[in-house]
Amino acid sequence: MQDNAHKRIVIAIDGYSSCGKSTFAKAIAARLGYIFIDTGAMYRAVTLYALDHGAIRSGIVCEEEVIALLDRIEITFRFNPERGASDIYVDGDLAEGRIRTIEVSNCVSRVSAIAEVRRKLVAMQQQMGRRRGVVMDGRDIGTVVFPDAELKIFMTADPAVRARRRYDELTAKGERVSLEEIERNVRERDYIDEHREISPLRRADDALLLDNSRMTVAEQMEWVTERIAERI
Ligand code: C5P
Repeated sequence: MQDNAHKRIVIAIDGYSSCGKSTFAKAIAARLGYIFIDTGAMYRAVTLYALDHGAIRSGIVCEEEVIALLDRIEITFRFNPERGASDIYVDGDLAEGRIRTIEVSNCVSRVSAIAEVRRKLVAMQQQMGRRRGVVMDGRDIGTVVFPDAELKIFMTADPAVRARRRYDELTAKGERVSLEEIERNVRERDYIDEHREISPLRRADDALLLDNSRMTVAEQMEWVTERIAERI
């Protein structure tokens, strides 16, 4: 499918936490020779920075202090061929591992509900996708970041299946967490993401629904390949 005769499009993948959006988006980007952008990593990076700089204390997010940090934080991406995706760097330091801890997961939805945080990151995302040829995953890509995306997919899966997937991922990395804690976090993030005032998680009217509770990645790829062919 990697062919210059085809139109380069934007593929927006939104949906609930731990649906496998990034795995899916990464596979599509590799197939098409597109750039893959994990926007959740950017909200996580701001959260990590806020934790490191004392703007979140005992789990309490101090909004003004997070906003004050926004002019100082430098978020960059560098392609990692081993992972087939870009790693995120915060002030020049590799942050890929640290942004995925349960500590960051527990605070990220409150940080991402701050208007100034969203304004800054959305502008960066629009800049990164300006030449199209991108697969971007997040919560507001099809509704706010690229409302003109040629292909929009809204992913969902049973919360218990999602919690189990996230649990397997974290324990494989050696993090000590319980399945109950993960399920609580997944449900809490979904609730905050869906109910926040600014760009809440919502399926765009023209987004295709993909429930992957009982689908393998190969089956999802088969499903999406037809939809891409129709658009390029
Ligand atoms: O995708 P991931 O689960 O890593 O995202 C972490 C959090 O970042 C989400 O729960 C959500 O609060 C926030 N987020 C967002 N908008 C995006 C991507 C992520 O608000 N486009």
